[in-house]
Amino acid sequence: MKEIKIHNNLSRKKETFVPVKPGKVNYYSCGPTTYDFAHIGNARAFVVGDLIHRVLKSFGYEVTFVRNYTDVDDKIIERARELGKDAIEFAALFVKECETDFGFLGMIPPTHTPKVSETMPEIIKMIEDIIRNKKAYVVEGEVLFDVPSFADYGKLSKKDLDSLQHGIRVEVDKKKRNSADFVLWKPAKPGEPFWDSPWGQGRPGWHIECSAMAKKFLGETLDIHHGGVDLMFPHHENEIAQSEAANNCPFCNNWVHHEFLNFGSEKMSKSLGNVVRIRDFVEKYSGQVLRHLLLSVHYRARLEWTDEVVQRALEEVKRIHEFVVEAETYKATGTADDAEIMGCIEKMKDDLSNDFNSAGALGTFFTFIRHARHNRDSLSQNSVTEILKIVNFVRDSMGFVSSDPEATLLSLRKNEQSLEGSDIDSQWIENLIEERKTAKASKNWARADEIRKELAAKNIVLKDNPDGSSTWKVQS
Ligand SMILES: [Zn+2]
Repeated sequence: MKEIKIHNNLSRKKETFVPVKPGKVNYYSCGPTTYDFAHIGNARAFVVGDLIHRVLKSFGYEVTFVRNYTDVDDKIIERARELGKDAIEFAALFVKECETDFGFLGMIPPTHTPKVSETMPEIIKMIEDIIRNKKAYVVEGEVLFDVPSFADYGKLSKKDLDSLQHGIRVEVDKKKRNSADFVLWKPAKPGEPFWDSPWGQGRPGWHIECSAMAKKFLGETLDIHHGGVDLMFPHHENEIAQSEAANNCPFCNNWVHHEFLNFGSEKMSKSLGNVVRIRDFVEKYSGQVLRHLLLSVHYRARLEWTDEVVQRALEEVKRIHEFVVEAETYKATGTADDAEIMGCIEKMKDDLSNDFNSAGALGTFFTFIRHARHNRDSLSQNSVTEILKIVNFVRDSMGFVSSDPEATLLSLRKNEQSLEGSDIDSQWIENLIEERKTAKASKNWARADEIRKELAAKNIVLKDNPDGSSTWKVQS
C-alpha cells in the first residue's frame, strides 16, 4: 500500500501515516449544525472531508468514516422557537437539505452519519465515565469538565492552561471551578427539548457529541480526525480531553484541519452577512464548479473567494469534461505506449499521498490532458485504455470528473448562457422551425433532421404537434 504523508496538527509536522490497524482507517469529520441552508464556507469542510475519504479508499484502505449531524443545539432551539416548530423536527428538515447539497457537491456517503438526538445513551455513558475518572463535576444539574485535572489539556491547540485561565474574561457562571471548564451536560430551560439523565432532565454540551459518536462507531482511538481550523480550539481540544478522560487512552493519532475560506478578503461567516448558500451557487454555476473551486487549492491554504477564482473553476471544469467526452472517442492508431500517459496515475498518487494535495494532482491531470490531446492520433491500445483508467481515477479519488460528463457540459453551457444574459434568441429558433417546416413539406428529411440537431446542440428541444406545428423548449 502506498505510503501517505499527513500534516498532523498534534505535532505540527508532516508525518508518515500509520493506522492503528494495518490497511484500515478510522476517520471522523465534524459535521454541520443543521438550522439553516449550508453556505460555501461549510462546503469547504464537506468537500475536504470527502476528499480525504476518497483518497484513502482509492489507495486501497478500508475506511470507516463518520460525519455527524448536530441536531441538538442552542441555535436550532432558538430558530425553531421563533418559527413555532419542534426543534428536533426542524433540525431534521435541514439534515435533508444538507444531504441534497452533498449530492450537488458530488460527495460519496460516509459509513455512518449519526445525529446527536440518536446518540443520547452513549453521550450519557461517556459523561458518567468522565465523572467516575474524576475529570468532571456536577453542580445543580450541570456537569462540567474539570480542565486542570486533565494534564494534557492544550496539546493540540498548543495553549497552556495558565494563559487560558488568564485570557478568559471573568466568568459570570459561578458554577465553574475554573474559568476554562466547559459544559458536558446542562439542565433544560422550560420549553426546551430534554433527555433524562442521572443529573436531571437536560441536554448535552456541544463538544461531547463528537467524542461519544466517534467512540460508538470507531472505537477509542481514531486514525484521523478532520475539521476546520476554527474548530481546533476549543472544540477539538475538548474532544481530546473528554475522550481521553473517559477512555484512558489516546483519542486520535492524526489531526487534520482545513483553512478558512476568505470571502472578499474577510473570513466568511454568517455574522458578516456576505453568505452565499451552496444552493444559490449551484443554481448559478453548478455543484461540480463549487467542488472544483474548493479542491483546486490545497486544503491547508487559505482560499480567497473572488470572481476570478470562480471563473477559472468554471473554465477548468468545462475543459476537463470536454476532454472526457472527447477521450471516449479515441482510437488506437499507434503501437508504442506513451510513457507520460502510462505514468500519470502514479504521479497523481504521489501528489495525493503528499498530504492530500488535490491541487497538485489537478495540475498533473491538466498536463496529461494537454499531452493526450496533442498525441491523440498516435495512441497505442494500452495508452487508450490507460486514458480511461486515468479519468476513472480522477473521478474516484477526487471527484473532479462528474458521473455524467455530457450532462455536466450541457448544464454548464446552459448556465453560461443565462450568466451572459444572452437570453435564448427566440427569433433565430422560430426562423429555423419555419425552415424545417418547409423542408418537411418538400420531403427534405435530411435538412429537417439537421435543423433539429442544430437546435439540440443549443439545448433547444423541439416537439412536433399533431396539427403540424412545432413548439420548442430549453432542455433543463
Ligand atoms: Zn466535532
